[in-house]
Parts: sequence; C-alpha cells; structure tokens
Amino acid sequence: MAKKSKTKDEKLHMRSVAELGCIICDKMGFPGSPAELHHIISNTGMGKKATNYEVIPLCPHHHRNSEDSYHHSPKNFDDKWGSQEDLLKETLEKKIMQEELQRVF
Ligand SMILES: [Zn+2]
Ligand SMILES: [Zn+2]
Repeated sequence: MAKKSKTKDEKLHMRSVAELGCIICDKMGFPGSPAELHHIISNTGMGKKATNYEVIPLCPHHHRNSEDSYHHSPKNFDDKWGSQEDLLKETLEKKIMQEELQRVF
C-alpha cells in the first residue's frame, strides 16, 4: 500500500504545534523558541508508529543538536522532562489554550 501523504488537516495541526515554540525551553522559562516537530514514539510495546498528530515542538538544541537533546538520549530526556505521552498532552493543552486566546481577542 502506498504511503499516505499528509492531509490538509494534519498539515494545519503540525504548523500550529510548531508555532507554539519549544516545549522544553518554555518549561525553562524561555517561551517561543523556534521549534521543529518531533514525532513521539509511543512505548506501547506494539511497535506503533506515531501519527502526524502525535508531534511535540522541540528546538534543534532540545531535539537533536546537543547532549540535552531527545535523540542524544531518549532515556535521559524522559527522566528529566517526563514521558513523550505527557509532553504530548501538555502540547495539546497549550495548543487549545492558544486557540481560545485567539478567539477572545
Ligand atoms: Zn528548546
Ligand atoms: Zn525527533
């Protein structure tokens, strides 16, 4: 079966997640770091692949460019910042908050 390309809705979702800025920098008190998307890998033991909705925003430093980055050591990253699932939950909550703010103003 051919690989499905991203739907318009997925693209929209991914863009607004990236626009939230790096979620780790935000935790450290530096909101709005330009972020790229990290697809979370759920540890359900099923080898399940993340969908395009299961993405969290990480700056290059926290994503892959440093010893603090997720891809340098997923385990250390999880120990320090919480599980990918938790970060995804925080990301989605933040996104909803952002959308509500935009509706008010
Ligand atoms: Zn960051
Ligand atoms: Zn990644």
